[in-house]
Amino acid sequence: MTCTVVVGGQWGDEGKGKITDILAEGADLVVRYQGGSNAGHTVVVGDEEFKLHLIPSGILHHDCTCLMGGGTVVDPLVLRDEITGLQARGVSCDNLRVSYTAHVVMPYHKRIEEQAEQARGRAGIGTTLRGIGPAYTDKAQRMPRPVRFRDLTDPDRLRELIAGQLEHKNVIIEHQYGQPPLSSDEVFAQVWPAAQEVGNYATDGYRLVQDSLRAGKRIVFEGAQGTFLDLDCGTYPFVTSSHPVAGGACLGTGIGPTAINEVIMICKAYTTRVGAGVLPTEDEGDAGQLLRDCGNEYGTTTGRPRRCGWLDGVVVRTAAMLNGATSIAVTKLDVLDALATIPVCVGYEIDGVMLDTMPSWPEELEKVKPIYEEIPGWQQPLGDMREWEQLPPQAQAYVEKIAELAGVPVKIVSLGQSREQTVFIG
Ligand code: GDP
Repeated sequence: MTCTVVVGGQWGDEGKGKITDILAEGADLVVRYQGGSNAGHTVVVGDEEFKLHLIPSGILHHDCTCLMGGGTVVDPLVLRDEITGLQARGVSCDNLRVSYTAHVVMPYHKRIEEQAEQARGRAGIGTTLRGIGPAYTDKAQRMPRPVRFRDLTDPDRLRELIAGQLEHKNVIIEHQYGQPPLSSDEVFAQVWPAAQEVGNYATDGYRLVQDSLRAGKRIVFEGAQGTFLDLDCGTYPFVTSSHPVAGGACLGTGIGPTAINEVIMICKAYTTRVGAGVLPTEDEGDAGQLLRDCGNEYGTTTGRPRRCGWLDGVVVRTAAMLNGATSIAVTKLDVLDALATIPVCVGYEIDGVMLDTMPSWPEELEKVKPIYEEIPGWQQPLGDMREWEQLPPQAQAYVEKIAELAGVPVKIVSLGQSREQTVFIG
């Protein structure tokens, strides 16, 4: 039995999709443990690119079951389109399952999120407007009873839950935001056709995970977003409403922490972030633009340009600790191919004091001054290299620097989008 958690070590978009797809080869079960359609995981197979928002990145392996765990929030309309899109490209989704207890993102969640973000104006959180935050808010609120995935299989119950929700939501929509109320019948009519299709995938997710564990199966738990977007451990309030850290795999799927053997932290060779919030190594000038262009740093879900900056060793070290990382996969090393030297942040200075881990208080984090070391670049393309020994010494030294800063060994290095462009160490 091997239970591996794949977790983003920065602010998301580290390339978790590619690494999860690789690990899914030989896995029996791949489980998404949190988040919703605000995620965008890209998997490239040959000439084909697949963009997955909800469905776990193991779906391209037919002999592997893919589960959306109870910690995820599922928009049935998005899920239906994603399934149909995959099927149209010859990918069977027969191996897909969705946990009964996953909460459902409903049209009123999106409406409320849009209005709330508009009202916040420039002080907005910069959400993806997919209704994720309001769906998790309802989950924590508990009453009136929100819609959970199994409810999609029972039209009477679904109608009843929608009506109960709208009694409250319409007060907000009408009186707080001055918008016309939503009709219960219309919301039902919007959701029901999709519910009928996706309801077939509903399953007892906790039982599936527990049975797989008992049977000694290989399980990969896939996180979305990244460590510093975690509701508790992240750079609050500019975070997501769920738990991307490795511990979130326990909450979102029903395994105990002691069942996890491996935590692979995905670490991009530089740093990016979408939306508002602190980013200590951000470069708003030419260097940041170069990283954005070479790394194609534009959101999979939103198309928004990502903020870019140099690798932040303090971020990586702190993330390794928060996740209990056992190894690191460094991704997008090839994006740095052209650079003569590469700045790497090795510590922070704050009021004359050196820090080697991130302060958890955002106002303190805003004041830190990154201390950089210049690492020599390799100035040659890495994309065709397949063995660690083939990598130029400067590229090896850069990877070893990441391991040293994080205090965790690097076991995988990704040198391009495709499965083949991956080097395993040791
Ligand atoms: P995720 O959300 O963490 O799965 O990351 P995204 O899919 O949003 O972003 C990663 C992007 O980088 C995708 O387009 C991947 O195909 C691509 N990618 C992943 N690994 C590499 C790599 O090593 N090199 C390059 N150039 N692109 C990569």
